[in-house]
Amino acid sequence: MSEQVNRPAAPYIGSEATIGPYLGHTRVAYFSMEIALRAEIHTYSGGLGVLAGDTARAAADLSLPMVFVTLVSRQGYLQQAIDEDGRQVDRADPWKPADYATPLRAKVAVIIGGREVWIRPWLYPLGSAIGRTVPVLLLDTALPENHADDQTITDTLYGGDMTYRFKQEVVLGIGGLRLLQALGFHIDRYHMNEGHAALLALDLLRRYPRPLDQVAPGELKLDVAEVRQACVFTTHTPIEAGHDTFSYELVGHLLQGYIELDQVRQLAGSDQLNMTRLALNLSGYINGVAVRHAEVTTRMFPGYDIRAITNGVHAPQWAHPAFAEVFNRHSLKWGYSPEVMQRFDQLPDDLVWQAHQQAKGHLLELVQRVSRQKLALDVPILGFARRFTAYKRPELIFSDLARLQAIHARYPFQLVLAGKAHPNDQPAKELIHSIHSMIRALAPEIRMAFLPNYDLSIARTVIAGADVWVNTPEPPMEASGTSGMKAGLNGVLNLSVLDGWWIEAHIEGVTGWSIGNHAGASADALYDKLERAVLPMYYQDRPRWIWMMKQAISKIGSTFNAHRMMRRYAAEAYIARRPSWEVSTHAPPPF
Ligand SMILES: *Cc1c(COP(=O)(O)O)cnc(C)c1O
Repeated sequence: MSEQVNRPAAPYIGSEATIGPYLGHTRVAYFSMEIALRAEIHTYSGGLGVLAGDTARAAADLSLPMVFVTLVSRQGYLQQAIDEDGRQVDRADPWKPADYATPLRAKVAVIIGGREVWIRPWLYPLGSAIGRTVPVLLLDTALPENHADDQTITDTLYGGDMTYRFKQEVVLGIGGLRLLQALGFHIDRYHMNEGHAALLALDLLRRYPRPLDQVAPGELKLDVAEVRQACVFTTHTPIEAGHDTFSYELVGHLLQGYIELDQVRQLAGSDQLNMTRLALNLSGYINGVAVRHAEVTTRMFPGYDIRAITNGVHAPQWAHPAFAEVFNRHSLKWGYSPEVMQRFDQLPDDLVWQAHQQAKGHLLELVQRVSRQKLALDVPILGFARRFTAYKRPELIFSDLARLQAIHARYPFQLVLAGKAHPNDQPAKELIHSIHSMIRALAPEIRMAFLPNYDLSIARTVIAGADVWVNTPEPPMEASGTSGMKAGLNGVLNLSVLDGWWIEAHIEGVTGWSIGNHAGASADALYDKLERAVLPMYYQDRPRWIWMMKQAISKIGSTFNAHRMMRRYAAEAYIARRPSWEVSTHAPPPF
C-alpha cells in the first residue's frame, strides 16, 4: 500500500460517469437528507451529514455494495457571516452541481399537490484509494418541465416551512426509491439515516397488498412484514423537534389519492404523521447511534427493539496530515484496519508532540487569517465547535466570567469557537450574539476567537489543532456526538459531559476527562476540572499529557471509527436480517 492510502481520497469524476458499473453488485441503498461529501459541496448542515459522508467514505474503502441517495441542495444550508455586532447573518450557500457531479439521463416523477414533479439525479462517484467507488445520487427538481414552485424543492437544506419540508421528503423517499428502480438497481436493503426518508418505506408498502379476505375491518391492508424485511432505520436524536411530524391535512393535500390515510395513521400516529414512528413500524432493524442513545430512544418509543451501533469517524478524513505521517511510520494499514491503531499508544512522544504542534500551528494560521487574532503556540487551546443549539450549551463555559478570569490568571488558556445556528433558531442566534459580547469583555487578557461558517474544512483544522475538545451538552440530549472522536484520533483530549459516545470512551485521566456525572454537569464542574486537572497537567506534567494523547489516539482512534461502524452495519443490519422482534424479549411493535 502506498502512503496515499491514508490520505482523504481525491474524488473520482470519470468522464464516462454513468451508473452502469454499479448496477450489478449494488444491494444496499442509504438514504439521507444530508451527506457531507466535501466542503465545496453544500449538501449538509452538521453532524448528521458529516456522519453520512464518513459512512460513504468507509463503504467505499470496504467495497460495500452500496448506493447513497440525498438531495442536491443547490442553495446549500447556510453560509454564516458574523456582523460587527457579533450577530449571525444568514446567507444562501449555493454550489454548482455541474462543477462536481454528472447529470444522469434518467428521470422519474412523483405527484405532489396534484402536480407531476420530475426528479433527475446527479451522479457523484465517491472514490476510495483502497476500495471501490460508491455512487452518490443527488436528487434535483430544478428542471424546466417542472412548475416554477417545484423547481425549488431541492434548493435549501432544512429551509422553508413544513409544506416545503414534506415536499422534500416526498422527493427524497418516494422519488429516490423510484429513481433507483428506474436506473435498474436491485436493492435488498434500504437504510434510512434518520426519519426524513421514511416515505420510501410507505412507497414500498403500497406494493404489498394483503389478500382482502384475510383483512379484518380496521386492520392494515398492506403487508408490513415484507417491507420490514427490507428496511433499516437509524434514529439520531432524542430531541422531540428532531422528529419530523406533519399534519394529516397537509399530507392529504400534498399526497391526495396516494394512499388511504387511515392506513398511514396505523403506522405513523393517529394525530400527526410522525416520520420516526413510520420508520420504526416499517423497519426490521432499528438502531440508535450510541449505547446510551439506544436506551433513551427505547424509553421514548416503548415496545420497539432498538439496538445500538455507536457512530464512528473516517480516520483518513480526520487525521491531520502530520499525524497521518506519524501513523504511517508505524503501520500503513491504519486507514483500512483501525484495529492497528490500538498499538499507537507506543508512538514516540516527540513525534506525537511535534505532529500536534504542527496541527496547532495550522489552527493558529486559520485564526489569524479569518479573525486577525494572534494565538500562542505554547498556551493551551480549548476548542468548542458544533451546531449552535440550546441543548449543546455553548454558553456554559461563559457562566462565570470572574471565575474564568481567575483560572486564566493561574493557568493561561485560549478558546476557539465555531458553529452555525439554524436560521429559525432564534435562541441559538442569541447565544452567538451574547458569546461575542463575552469574548469582547474578556479581551485582551483571554484570547478567544469565533470562526464563522463552521464546515468540513474548518472542522478539520479546528478539531485537530486544539489541545482540549470541550463538550457541554445537557444529558441525555447528545445522541452520540462525533467531533470528539475526530479530536481523539488526533491526540486532542476530550473534556466532556458524560453523554452520547463519551460514556463508552471515557476513562478518567486516560482518554480524557468527564465534566459532572451521568445526571448532568454544571459550569462549576467544568471550571473545577479545568482548574484542578486539565490545565495543571498541561503546564506541570507534559509527559503525562502526551501519554494521555497516545491513549486517546489508540483507544478512540481504533474503536470510534467508521470502518468498525460499517462492518457492524453490514453484518448486523444488512446481512443478518432476522427481524428484531423475533429475537427480542420485547413485545412486537405496537399495532
Ligand atoms: C463532526 C462535525 C459535526 C458534528 O459534531 P458533534 O460533535 O456531533 O457536534 C458537525 N459539523 C461539522 C462540520 C463536523 O465536522
